[in-house]
Amino acid sequence: MKFEQYHIATELKRSLDELGFKKPTDIQFKAIGPVLQGNDVLAVAQTGTGKTAAFVIPVLHKLMYIKNPPKQREAKCLVMVPTRELAIQIAKVFRTIGKYTKLKTTALLGGVEQEHQIEQLANGTDVLIATPGRMFDLIYQKKLDLNKTEILVLDEADLMLDYGFIKDIQDVIKFLPDYRQTLFFSATINSEIKEIAYGIVRNPIRIQISPQDPISKNITHFVAHIEMDDKRYFLERLVTEHPEAKILIFVRTKVRAERVASAMERVQIKALTMHSGKDQSERAEIMDSFKNGIVKLLITTDLNARGVDIPNVDYVVNYDLPEEAENYVHRVGRTGRGVQKGIAYSFCSKDELPVLKTIEQYLGNKINVLDIDPETYSDTILFTEEVNDSNWKALLKENEALEAKKSKKSKKK
Ligand code: ADP
Ligand code: MG
Repeated sequence: MKFEQYHIATELKRSLDELGFKKPTDIQFKAIGPVLQGNDVLAVAQTGTGKTAAFVIPVLHKLMYIKNPPKQREAKCLVMVPTRELAIQIAKVFRTIGKYTKLKTTALLGGVEQEHQIEQLANGTDVLIATPGRMFDLIYQKKLDLNKTEILVLDEADLMLDYGFIKDIQDVIKFLPDYRQTLFFSATINSEIKEIAYGIVRNPIRIQISPQDPISKNITHFVAHIEMDDKRYFLERLVTEHPEAKILIFVRTKVRAERVASAMERVQIKALTMHSGKDQSERAEIMDSFKNGIVKLLITTDLNARGVDIPNVDYVVNYDLPEEAENYVHRVGRTGRGVQKGIAYSFCSKDELPVLKTIEQYLGNKINVLDIDPETYSDTILFTEEVNDSNWKALLKENEALEAKKSKKSKKK
């Protein structure tokens, strides 16, 4: 069924059409109806399958026809998310899909001045996207009132738990009316999440899309056995061979991120880094440059592993394997989003073999091994030197030509 045929407002159909969303993804197909009907929903679907629009579309539709529009300091729908990046990203989806409606979306996040946010809240908002810290701050300052909130959405619920937001989830419930609709979206599910979820939903509709393989079918992923000290050569090779590709590289720590970036810089490859050491305005700038493709390489810690929707990432590289097996799924899930295809490589050193094993256990599958024969392996390491070597030769040639020209000129004189 196409979006055209849905019983949703024409204002929404129009923006969906502009976005190029013709038909719903699996999760959207299964979730939109039940959400519109007012059910609580517990949805688990792989990365990049369109979970955001799965709640944004029906929530916007419902809010358009709501009986009591928001009054001062009220929010009709609260979307709680674990990170600032996600808050910004989800607010953008609400605004884009809701472009032709009169609904107002407000994002509350820390790291920026609160004054502007308070102003935005003063007359009430239809949709509020919030990270817990700033939200509780404003509630305590009486600038925000969740008493009339009708819909609660917990997106990236699995990440909320990782970040230690269990208490925040439990606390926010106390500010919300008992009678509300709760929507729970997650890419992975474990017993802890189940317990929390069931604690706050009421007879939920459960939707789970292909739980057998947590990796989306749009992603081809390999493991390459590469020694720690050689990894940079392989990254360099990938970049050099695919100069147009957008590549997202995951490393273990922020120190590693900077180190890999310097190694790339030494061979004239420009890369950005993203980690907890960057402040909010830097982060926004970095994400924009990478999203817009101004810089094609982003080296990041797991800060970016979840939920972040970056258009057209061609390759994900696990330069270091993730310590949390679950994060493997989230990292590789940054490519192959929506209807696109993507490739992920994991560089695994001898020391990381036990981690690989844990990841494979988690996936319930072996990851295909990228065969690198010894010759290609040593060629790749030589590759850097060769490039430099030929640069040097080119330089010499240029110099020779210049000298020749000079002597010609002087002869003419
Ligand atoms: P998830 O939260 O499941 O990881 P997102 O909601 O971030 O995934 O969506 C992933 C990508 O898919 C986004 O770039 C989005 O624009 C695109 N997308 C979502 N729904 C559709 C659709 N119905 N048709 C085409 N593209 C879609
Ligand atoms: Mg998401």
